Amino acid sequence: MELTSEERAIYEWQIWVDGLGESGQERLKSSTALITRVGGLGGPLAQSLAAAGIGKLILAHAGNTRPSDLNRQILQTHDQLGKSRIESCRQRLLDLNPRLEIETVGENVDEGNAARLVTGADIVFDCAPLFEERLLLNRECVRQRKPLVDAAMFDLEGQLTTIIPGQTPCLACLYPEVPPGWKREFPVIGAVSATMANLAALEGIKLLVGFGELLASKLLIFDARSMTFRKISIHRRPGCAVCGALGSTAGENEAG
Ligand SMILES: [Zn+2]
Repeated sequence: MELTSEERAIYEWQIWVDGLGESGQERLKSSTALITRVGGLGGPLAQSLAAAGIGKLILAHAGNTRPSDLNRQILQTHDQLGKSRIESCRQRLLDLNPRLEIETVGENVDEGNAARLVTGADIVFDCAPLFEERLLLNRECVRQRKPLVDAAMFDLEGQLTTIIPGQTPCLACLYPEVPPGWKREFPVIGAVSATMANLAALEGIKLLVGFGELLASKLLIFDARSMTFRKISIHRRPGCAVCGALGSTAGENEAG
């Protein structure tokens, strides 16, 4: 998908990035990303992908904007209180990038829509506060062999990994069931969720364009209290109920 002269002007400084270039920008333009839940994580993530020139976003998020969203859900605004979150997301993103194609789904991921949502995407970003939704999305991504970037945070800590089905551990390899202590509502500062969101966006851009090293079979742990990043190796779990049947492909630690 060739760039227009307008797009060359908009993305000029980004095309200068070593490994990205005009061909990488064209790949972003021809790519579709699914973001499930467009809140504290998914909002800044969608914004960064929109700014970077991704061609299409599929956004799934239910409900209306509440006051307690506004400390971190940066695509929501005060005048949007009580109104549809997903419509606010659409408007804010189009203000930034009117050429962006957006498909909005006013639902959270569930058994009934997961397959359809994942089918339309080249890459999936899991930003749900409910772990059941994360496990469901992981299962569907493994089934359809779609890459999945999983970002999460709690208090001042964040975690991030990139799942490539058949090559890296899937989410169920790490957490076969909902982790004990996982909460639907949790302490968070918007700057922490936005940090994890932007790290996830970078993983997605690198994966779609094909440059740099991914967090494949690696878990990044960010501690904002001490300002430290750690990267640990993670492994596929033999007999994983979700990805075990895929077998292992070569290059488990070299994905991407
Ligand atoms: Zn697995």
